Amino acid sequence: RQAAFRTDLSSLLDLVGTGKESLSFMKRRMRRLASQWGTAAQRLHAKLRQRWREQKKILVHVGFLTEESGDVFSPKVLKGGPLGEMVQWADILTALHVLGHNLKISMSVKELQGFLGVPPGRGSCPLTGPLPFDLIYTDYHGMQQMKQHMGLSLKRHKCHIRVIDTFGTEPAYNHEDYATLHGYRTNWGYWNLNSRQYMTMFPHTPDNSFMGFVSEELNDTEKSSIMQNKVNNMAVVYGKEASMWKLQQGKEGFLQILHRYMEVHGTVYYETQRPPEVPAYVKNHGLLPQHELQTLLRKAKLFIGFGFPYEGPAPLEAIANGCIYLQPKFHPPHSSLNHEFFRGKPTSREVSSQHPYAEQYIGRPHVMTVDYNNSQEFDSAIREIMSTKVEPYLPYEYTCEGMLERVHAYIQHQDFCTPEAPFPPANSSSSKLGLSSPASPGPQFFLLPNSSALTWAPNANAPLAWPPLSSLRLLASQEGQSCVEACQRANLVCEPALFRFVNNKEALRGLEVQCEVVEAEVNHVFPAFSVLRRECGLQKDPLLYSCAGLSPKYRRLCPCRDYRRGQVALCRDCL
Ligand code: UDP
Repeated sequence: RQAAFRTDLSSLLDLVGTGKESLSFMKRRMRRLASQWGTAAQRLHAKLRQRWREQKKILVHVGFLTEESGDVFSPKVLKGGPLGEMVQWADILTALHVLGHNLKISMSVKELQGFLGVPPGRGSCPLTGPLPFDLIYTDYHGMQQMKQHMGLSLKRHKCHIRVIDTFGTEPAYNHEDYATLHGYRTNWGYWNLNSRQYMTMFPHTPDNSFMGFVSEELNDTEKSSIMQNKVNNMAVVYGKEASMWKLQQGKEGFLQILHRYMEVHGTVYYETQRPPEVPAYVKNHGLLPQHELQTLLRKAKLFIGFGFPYEGPAPLEAIANGCIYLQPKFHPPHSSLNHEFFRGKPTSREVSSQHPYAEQYIGRPHVMTVDYNNSQEFDSAIREIMSTKVEPYLPYEYTCEGMLERVHAYIQHQDFCTPEAPFPPANSSSSKLGLSSPASPGPQFFLLPNSSALTWAPNANAPLAWPPLSSLRLLASQEGQSCVEACQRANLVCEPALFRFVNNKEALRGLEVQCEVVEAEVNHVFPAFSVLRRECGLQKDPLLYSCAGLSPKYRRLCPCRDYRRGQVALCRDCL
């Protein structure tokens, strides 16, 4: 069946249910953004020009909101607790609905069992028949619940699952045996999924798929009225819970410097009186409903982060409303190795500032990332902000249309159920001899003019892939550099789906690597080579293809690809 765009959200709102603050928050958000989604649907419809879109049967099981997982979030919605996850789930549900899919939503284990057709009660009552859904979106809590209630059949059906995972999961942590052997085991689990089945809130490591969320988009009239009404000395502090303000206590800190120049506003939750962490000169509005926060941001010139929370939606909303976002640089970067918050998370990613996406993908003049311990640097940043004029800005990938386009592409193209044919084909002469004869269907690489990247020369037998092979550029990283970084340096992005095309001798030869031995091993930095020892390693287990991996001993073979401006998840020919 063909999926038809929907511009009316009423049936979705009925599906979401009632009785919890988290659900009311999500529904308020859906209603507030309904017209934006409608316009976005029309635009994408026109852009895709009647392209066939298969209607999928989709189950969304929101694990963290189930009573069975403890649901610690719902009671804190109105008390300064985290809202980013709720924002994202509301937007995922809306995107799937607007794209016209057949949607079921479950927020309890009982509903989950009902939808999957497994008998109620605990224990391993496996689902015996076929899975009644094409896709299941859930989170780590939901995975645990499905394991408990689907038993062994989870394994059989797991290629249909997508895990919404805010901070991301790297391949070395996902691979059960490898994680166990090499110290990458965490409490979140090692589910042996394809790493692209984990979907993140920001484009962290491209090993995962970037799901994202949306922020409000302004038209030109709104933009110019905002710019006219900006109050140059008005700052809003990022942090709705009082504990986030602790970070600035002590010495004559940056907040005092800020206060010297600007009127400081906060949206910190409080019950009866001002939280002691918030200085008296701060105009505290209390936790605001989303639309009132937008109104406040429209007037403010500066949105300032204190270092926590990490990587939330609020800075994008602030920048979209014409604020400059000022945030601390982290020296050294925070990660699961050195910071409590990230400890035990299934990633080694180094977080270079409070909001690396804002730092790396947006940057000046909208974002300034400075060392808060250096009062001079901080002081001059504030003065610069007060005198700089900026326009409201929202990256395309965070607009409703951008999110619809991306989710559409994933649903139509990502397939983790069909086994991938070995590459190069096992019977080709190239794989046996390590030689590429002109007649063989094996890979051929050539050097692009004006570039250090080798590109793929697809021949008649080139297999179908998504992203397509036309987007592939092969690069070698430096020692100690990951493919995430190596591709980024060349204005490209690492594409894990294309690793299988560069995991071969032809790729090594294309890069003119001297190998005395070529060995296939289970190692998350392979394919790679050691210049010193003239050793080359190919990847033995496709589950371990990793953009994030790095080792000081090895230069890695990196499958990079191009990307669309403002839509890093998609290559030029990806739609
Ligand atoms: N938010 C809000 N009222 C406030 C402060 C924030 O509704 O007074 C919303 C904000 O619009 C954003 C969401 O809270 O969409 C999540 O914000 P944040 O970036 O702080 O991320 P979190 O840590 O809550 O996940």
